Amino acid sequence: MPSPSRAVAVEKSGTAARYLPQNPSDWTLVEIKKRAARCRACPLYKLGTQTVFGEGSPHARIVMVGEQPGGQEDVQGRPFVGPAGKLLDRALAEAGIDRADIYLTNTVKHFKWVGAGRRRLNKKANAREIAACRPWLEAELAIIKPGIVVALGATAAQALLGKTFRVTQARGRPFRDTRWAPLVFATVHPSSILRAFTEDRTSAFARFVADLKAVRSHL
Ligand code: SF4
Repeated sequence: MPSPSRAVAVEKSGTAARYLPQNPSDWTLVEIKKRAARCRACPLYKLGTQTVFGEGSPHARIVMVGEQPGGQEDVQGRPFVGPAGKLLDRALAEAGIDRADIYLTNTVKHFKWVGAGRRRLNKKANAREIAACRPWLEAELAIIKPGIVVALGATAAQALLGKTFRVTQARGRPFRDTRWAPLVFATVHPSSILRAFTEDRTSAFARFVADLKAVRSHL
């Protein structure tokens, strides 16, 4: 059985932590984004076109965390630029949240997909890939120190609030004094609204906007 220090070394070597500057006081978004572009901490770098790092002001008051980049994000190298990102933009505008107040990122920074003919279909990242990528998200949050973190969807919510967290049961509710921020909220991922049946989409969107309004009320 490995000693505790050996276990930590093994765990660290299997994550993106080894790519971060040793001293957290040297961390900046520009520097860690540059390093993340070279990350090989899990096999997803072979699938994605490029690392899709977070985007927004280092002084953002809100950090929103999604699951992983989709096909368009993979090609453009920017988070939330596909259909789900456009829906998020519309919901933010309706909720009265300024995009300048937000830093957008994902739990996993490479696109995971399976081929279906000529199409690339999103495939959920597994626990090993989520754990490997976690140091990038932790570093983003440590640098920005936002007042509020919003988890979009179950993958982000469980990464931030624990594996047993259920978005359906606790969406739109503030969780206080977490290790990530004074306030953490969880809501659905905008892509789930796009996947909803047409007749359910309007109410799903309205509920999403209501969750974002609850976030705004704490700004
Ligand atoms: S998904 Fe994350 S941990 Fe895996 S290679 Fe990409 S940046 Fe590194």
